[in-house]
Amino acid sequence: MLARLFRLHGLLVASHPWEVIVGTLAVTVCLMNMNSSSTSSQMCSWNNCPKVKEEAPSSDIIVLTITRCMAIIYIYFQFKNLLQLGSKYILGIAGLFTVFSSFVFSTVVIHFFGKELTGLNEALPFFLLLIDLSKACTLAKFALSSNSQEEVRENISKGMAILGPTFTLDALVECLVIGIGTMSGVPQLEIMCCFGCMSVLANYFVFMTFFPACVSLVLELSRESREGRPIWQMSHLANVLAEEEDNKPNPVTQRVKIIMSLGLALVHAHTRLTAERSGRNRTAEGPVAERLESAGTVWPLKLTSMELEHVITLGLALLLAIKYVFFEQADTESSLSLRSPISGASLVQKPRAADSCCRRDQSAARKSSAGVLATGVASSAVSDVKPLPEADITCKVRRSVSVEVGGCASPRLETCRAPAGCGAEPRSLEECMAVLSDPQRGPEMLTDSEVINLVTARKILNYKLEALLETPERGVAIRREMLALKLPVSSALSGLPYKGYDYSKVMGACCENVIGYMPVPVGVAGPLLLDGQQFHVPMATTEGCLVASTNRGCRAVSLSGGCSSRILADSMTRGPVVRLPSACRAAEVKMWLETTDGFGLVKEAFDETSRFARLEKLLACVAGRNLYIRFQSQTGDAMGMNMLSKGTEQALGRLKQHFPDMEVLSVSGNYCTDKKSAAINWILGRGKSAVCEATIPAQVVREVLKSSTAALVDLNISKNLVGSAMAGSIGGFNAHAANIVSAIFIACGQDPAQTVGSSSCITQMEAAGPDGDDLYISCTMPSIELGTVGGGTNLPPQQACLQMLGVAGPNQPGENARQLARVVCATVLAGELSLMAALAAGHLVKSHMTHNRSKTSLPEMAFPATETNVPKR
Ligand code: NAP
Repeated sequence: MLARLFRLHGLLVASHPWEVIVGTLAVTVCLMNMNSSSTSSQMCSWNNCPKVKEEAPSSDIIVLTITRCMAIIYIYFQFKNLLQLGSKYILGIAGLFTVFSSFVFSTVVIHFFGKELTGLNEALPFFLLLIDLSKACTLAKFALSSNSQEEVRENISKGMAILGPTFTLDALVECLVIGIGTMSGVPQLEIMCCFGCMSVLANYFVFMTFFPACVSLVLELSRESREGRPIWQMSHLANVLAEEEDNKPNPVTQRVKIIMSLGLALVHAHTRLTAERSGRNRTAEGPVAERLESAGTVWPLKLTSMELEHVITLGLALLLAIKYVFFEQADTESSLSLRSPISGASLVQKPRAADSCCRRDQSAARKSSAGVLATGVASSAVSDVKPLPEADITCKVRRSVSVEVGGCASPRLETCRAPAGCGAEPRSLEECMAVLSDPQRGPEMLTDSEVINLVTARKILNYKLEALLETPERGVAIRREMLALKLPVSSALSGLPYKGYDYSKVMGACCENVIGYMPVPVGVAGPLLLDGQQFHVPMATTEGCLVASTNRGCRAVSLSGGCSSRILADSMTRGPVVRLPSACRAAEVKMWLETTDGFGLVKEAFDETSRFARLEKLLACVAGRNLYIRFQSQTGDAMGMNMLSKGTEQALGRLKQHFPDMEVLSVSGNYCTDKKSAAINWILGRGKSAVCEATIPAQVVREVLKSSTAALVDLNISKNLVGSAMAGSIGGFNAHAANIVSAIFIACGQDPAQTVGSSSCITQMEAAGPDGDDLYISCTMPSIELGTVGGGTNLPPQQACLQMLGVAGPNQPGENARQLARVVCATVLAGELSLMAALAAGHLVKSHMTHNRSKTSLPEMAFPATETNVPKR
């Protein structure tokens, strides 16, 4: 409820930044201009502040000097920590927050203590000591993790919902705790505590109003970069919202704080009542007012008579500034270049320290590429790149060579042969390992070249890069850089995109040693009317004509009233091979497995391994002393290979307990059979067995398919039946089922290698109808191996294609997977219709020459045919 309230507040503030900023400024200015005399005693009447002496004692001066120095050091370290985040936006936003909070605070102080700067001089250090930039920066990080202005607002409101309640409670508790000091009776402490309370309130007020509005406005004004991404966007902050949500404050601590604040409120109320009763004479002469009254000296004059406290404070500030400007600038820049996609734009223009020049984000590289090209460096960068042996890798300057293929620019690594030209050397392996294992610093504090050195020295394993670095994408980028040096053409990878991909879904599930992702065009065929429902079928392919042809088939089917399908069987198989001491013993085991007891024992072990896999059948066959056992089970919505392997392994373990002389040779003995053409799948089925049929009226055959029933039936017999029989085909009694199956499999995240068994299909055609000129067609596919959960179906683009068909994820166990199998079978039928018609009409070669032969990508033949190189027949 509270979080919802803060969320709404955040949304309101972020959506109307101008109004909020102007409103906040107006309130502050009003406060400034209000007559202070009437209120000058307010603070003290509330707190019973006594007057201080006109001249502060020397102990006060010491306390003030120490406070000022502490405030400067504290602020210095706060900003230094912020620098580590590597965003000039965060730095700027934090700076803005500090300045405006100080402004509000100063206004309040001047308002309550009279229009004098002397009080401010003493109050500001307390304010700086109490200001907490961490919450402001967390909110800024939320905003900076957004991809668009809408997301900025959304993230600010989410941030408010997360941070608002905690911050409010903290401010309340701090105020009440510090407020206790205002009742201490020690004049100087009371003043300090007054300042403290005001600091907390000013900080809170600015955080809740001006700050989120300002963040929203600044980011809106920054708008988007030329690449279409917001220029502030920081990929390494992508998870910051989720992380912060996970790090919610301990509810017990929160409860303690609430109880504590209630108790403190009671203490304050009690003291106030007592004070009121004992008269207000003490409060009438507030120490601060008097003190400020006495400080009538104009402040510029004070400058001329600087006291020791001021000299010390100023000296410290100057010292830190000198340290920052002259000694930390390089470090800072390097850490910014390590992290910030924004700040590296000018890095290419001049050689810099190795640290700083090696780690830049792609957007910086993109920006800088323009500069590189403009100065003509790019061409030499491209041509001069030569692969170096790993031992020679001393320093690498990543320079964009502006290779853009398919909208993907890939910054390329250039080996700098003169390390001195790059400035400082990468740190030693030991130093880098120390940085890596330090939780305060971690991999983000290492440059790319240092990470590469660690991989080369096998301190980091290449295959673990994604998991070890702060983002998987950086791991992929570094692997590409290392690989590029070993390739015959070092720019080869520039055409393979790798940015903006969710590798977290790939890691440990779909692919290893990742160097990018392969975009494949996805077309759509349909609508396909199947069992009274329309489907738009996604097909990922690079074969021109395929989608268009399938689409024509879908149209013919839909115009004919659609097609109907049934699932004939549904079970996945795994066929291990085990060896017994003799063929007779193998036969005994086979017999035992065929008994109810034998099957029951194996089933019990198998079924324990999954909520969905249930052993249905065992098929055992003997070859000498080898025994092959085909385990068969339903697998819910999963394709089920991992599921079957897991169950089979456990079942074999149980079997071995029963037959200790049995040796398991392999959990897969090719008796499954997976990813290889096999009669067993064709005959017994594997995965989903489906059949689909349709009757196409003569008119549709003529007008849509441009053929005739007789020609199609004749060609089907000659090609798909007799032709395939002559070729000794297993399950290949079709024109091109594999085309459709593979295209749908790739689009929908299936295992593409299973196209081998899944495209087994017999296509049958007959003349039908009263005149025999309608066309009856059926496709029977006994082994469609697919699923809608697990494997590649978890990847977002593949899920999108499954969603197109309404079959993403799990359903009534197995329902989605079976529906997908029906769609595959029906689309195959459509594809068969269209291709067979094209072949019958002699259109195939012509349409492929038009739609399937690229006119742009094929280079001119390097060696045009001459008399000497034309092959002699
Ligand atoms: P999987 O992702 O390994 O297993 C499916 C998981 O989803 C199981 O943990 C299952 O729970 C869970 N699940 C949740 N809801 C479900 C539902 N409605 N229906 C079914 N399962 C549900 O997927 P798989 O299909 O078994 O294996 C596919 C992967 O195996 C692919 O990546 C493929 O490339 C690969 N593959 C492996 C082999 C091999 O030999 N191992 C061969 C070929 C392909 P439970 O834990 O309760 O079962």
